[in-house]
Amino acid sequence: MIAGLFHLDAVFGNHKHVVTDFGIRVELREGYPVSLPVVYETCGRIPKTFHKNAGGQSLCLGVPVLLYRQLKLSPSVLDYLKACLVPYLYQAVFFERGDPLPLGEIAHGSDGVLDFYALELHMPSHAAVIRCIQLLGMPRLTAYEEPCPCNSGRLLRQCHSHFLDKFREYQSEAWFRRRSRQLVTSAG
Ligand SMILES: [Zn+2]
Ligand SMILES: [Zn+2]
Repeated sequence: MIAGLFHLDAVFGNHKHVVTDFGIRVELREGYPVSLPVVYETCGRIPKTFHKNAGGQSLCLGVPVLLYRQLKLSPSVLDYLKACLVPYLYQAVFFERGDPLPLGEIAHGSDGVLDFYALELHMPSHAAVIRCIQLLGMPRLTAYEEPCPCNSGRLLRQCHSHFLDKFREYQSEAWFRRRSRQLVTSAG
C-alpha cells in the first residue's frame, strides 16, 4: 500500500494549468500487475457523483481494458498513476469548480463501456459490441470463421477482425469471456 499527498501539476492541450494536492492511497492486490491497482482519494474532496466504483468507493479511472493496456505497456505503479490518475484528477478539479470536463467523459458504468467499445470496434450497436467481446473470448482463428457482428454478412476475418485483434494484446480470452457475461447481465 502507498499513501500520501499526490501533487498534481498538469495541463492538457490548451486547457487551464492545474496545480493542487490530493490525498491518495494506492492498494496493490494479489497478482499485481495482473490485477489493477486500487486507488482511493483520502481527503473527501471527490464526491460519489464523480466516477467512483460501486462498493468500496475506489476511483473509477476509466474503461478497464484501457487500464490493463497501461499495465501491459508498463507495470510501474508510478507510470500507471501518471497515465491514469493524473487525467482523472485533472478532470475532477474541473468537476469541483462546476466547469465542463476538458478531456470529455465516458458515461460511468456499462453503458459507457459499451459506447467506448462501439467506437473502437466500429460497431453499430451495443448488441454487436457484446458479440465482439464474446468473440474475443474465443481462440482467434475460431472467431475469424464466425459471422462479423456488424451484420455485413461477411466472416469476421473478411471484415472487422483487425479492430478486434488489437484488444487481444491487452487481456486474455478468459478475461473477455468473463467481461462479456458481466456486460450481458448489466445490459439486461
Ligand atoms: Zn466511471
Ligand atoms: Zn464487420
